Amino acid sequence: MRDTPPAPREPPYTHPLTEPNMPETLAPDAITGLVLAGGRGSRMGGSDKGLQPFRGLPLAMHALLRLQAQVGMVMINANRNLAAYEAFGVPVWPDADPLAYAGPLAGFATGLTHCDTPWLLTVPCDCPLFPPNLAQRLGQGLADASAEVAMVRVGGRTQPVFCLLRADLLESLSRFLDGGGSKIDAWTATLKTVEVDFDHPGEFENVNSLPELRALEQTSLTSSSSPAPTARSSLAMSASPSTLPPDLAQVVSCVSGYDPKALPVDKVQDVIRRFVRPVRVAERVDLRAALGRVLAEDVIAPMDVPAHNNSGMDGYALRSDDLGADGATTLRIAGTGLAGHEFSGDVPAGSCLRIMTGAVLPAGCDTVVPQEFCRVDGELIHIPPGVLQRGDNARMRGEDLRAGQPALPAGKLLRPADIGLIASLGQAEVMAWRRLRVAFLSSGDELRSIGQPLSEGCVYDSNRYTLWAMLQRLGCDVLDLGVVRDDPALLEAALRHACENADAVITSGGVSVGEADHLRSVMAALGDVAFWRIAMRPGRPMAFGSIASHDQRAVLFGLPGNPVAVMVTFYAFVRDALLHMMGAAAKPLPLLPVAAQTALRKRPGRTEYQRAVLTPLPDQPGRYCARTTGDQGSGILRSMSEADGFIVLRHEQGSVQAGETVEFLPFEGLV
Ligand code: AMP
Ligand code: MG
Repeated sequence: MRDTPPAPREPPYTHPLTEPNMPETLAPDAITGLVLAGGRGSRMGGSDKGLQPFRGLPLAMHALLRLQAQVGMVMINANRNLAAYEAFGVPVWPDADPLAYAGPLAGFATGLTHCDTPWLLTVPCDCPLFPPNLAQRLGQGLADASAEVAMVRVGGRTQPVFCLLRADLLESLSRFLDGGGSKIDAWTATLKTVEVDFDHPGEFENVNSLPELRALEQTSLTSSSSPAPTARSSLAMSASPSTLPPDLAQVVSCVSGYDPKALPVDKVQDVIRRFVRPVRVAERVDLRAALGRVLAEDVIAPMDVPAHNNSGMDGYALRSDDLGADGATTLRIAGTGLAGHEFSGDVPAGSCLRIMTGAVLPAGCDTVVPQEFCRVDGELIHIPPGVLQRGDNARMRGEDLRAGQPALPAGKLLRPADIGLIASLGQAEVMAWRRLRVAFLSSGDELRSIGQPLSEGCVYDSNRYTLWAMLQRLGCDVLDLGVVRDDPALLEAALRHACENADAVITSGGVSVGEADHLRSVMAALGDVAFWRIAMRPGRPMAFGSIASHDQRAVLFGLPGNPVAVMVTFYAFVRDALLHMMGAAAKPLPLLPVAAQTALRKRPGRTEYQRAVLTPLPDQPGRYCARTTGDQGSGILRSMSEADGFIVLRHEQGSVQAGETVEFLPFEGLV
């Protein structure tokens, strides 16, 4: 989308200033709003200003919502973290040359290039409190003065980044920029420009550092000078447009062959993936607390890594030009370089430096000979021919990462290596999306919680424990709502509480097709929920959709009650959906080819997840076979506990012969 060339502009509107009956102000639909988020963040330690959290939303989202309420359409100009901005749900345009960072005028040019209305209104991403009548006031001033540019003046100062300008000024601006111009006022001085006075400097307060952001957060919460957001923007602020789940009917209409009574696994995954939206609220977190969280913005290397050329071995650093073409090389030892200690002397041609792993390579040296390759004779070393090539065992500055390069992309789920990598850049904190809040409950009158006596016909509730454990592993904040009896009032209260306090709600039990449980009707009454029969085993019945209470919506997963079915449906559907909601750029799980140890009976037309144990094949190193854990009843939780993973038998697959290759989904990864 970003590569689309600018559309030829044929404004659907008559230019308001040339109309005989000029309107008193410009109509909102004639204006495109542009949030300028293309800065380098040099005063914010390099972090992306627009993505810093402010009152629970990214800073740029505040500007966007305020603007959205005032103009016909909106877009964002950003040069980094494009995925994070795209998640706001509006077009995002980088500058033609994003590396040039040419300041706000480059953003103006980008906005004008993509503006399809006669007027463009720019606002910076770091002023979250600008007035709700900004467009109207600037439009009025512009029309009154028959100008082509209007900008804000407040507290005796011009704020030129709040600028309403005619969209056909692109040519003039391009000429100005091509001529080396960069200052807004120098360009607007060549145009008919009007400055429009505003009364409250506080509304145009901009934020240049994190302490300023925190201070503004404090004052703005108590200040009455900042206007309340309009109805249109406050609605969007409680749940940003991009995080609101769409209509389920709309989603399923995009899925071919959708049949809720016999839905193949891949269609279920497709519907869910189209339905759920990431919850985009960023937080700055301590590096250790970031393990298992999802990066909200790219981590940029602030320096070259490694920062110096250094040795990869204990040995002798030398100049490769000194290496004899085919004969042995003899060099004089000029001194010793230890890791963490600078060697201040010279290593002239014909000599070398005794060096330890990690010590800085002296100037001129580009190769290290490991100590075990050479013979030391007093102050001399002798290197036999043919053991060394130029650059061997030398780690060069920036070979791992160059300053300014993204070290980790936004959307990365942080694992141990990532935590170490960020530490290697000297960074103590990262911007991460907030943890996903997931509420869960068990339903069924036969269920008893652990600690309660087990009366006749009852079972202990195990699903809440497996769900708790899987959610913990996924890095979610959990809200355990306990066992809820099959009573409509209790179920409704529990589900309302769940969606008022969580992003997603998981229930188990009570969703079987044909079952007379109240849970199904309460779910249906609270939202937009489909009840499916899935072509899979185990785990046939499932409810999915969204439920709402007091304008708070949550995604709902109504899982079956059988303990194995709960886990299978969680792994098959819920896991991926929650990762997506967490903002993670998740990859599909790898399925490993293994040999079936015994024949497996299977009928085509459903996906089966057979619990299986993996054993290395004794005569074929690196290859494995899998055997099922025995009885595959969906209530036998022991089968999950004993298994190393699932043999996944695909929808169209039939019975399998012993020795045939099947796909295996392991439960464990590395820590
Ligand atoms: P349902 O989906 O409600 O028809 O439940 C199917 C089977 O799963 C029944 O045998 C239930 O007793 C059992 N079951 C439902 N919920 C749980 C739970 N939380 N823990 C253990 N078993 C459960
Ligand atoms: Mg039940």
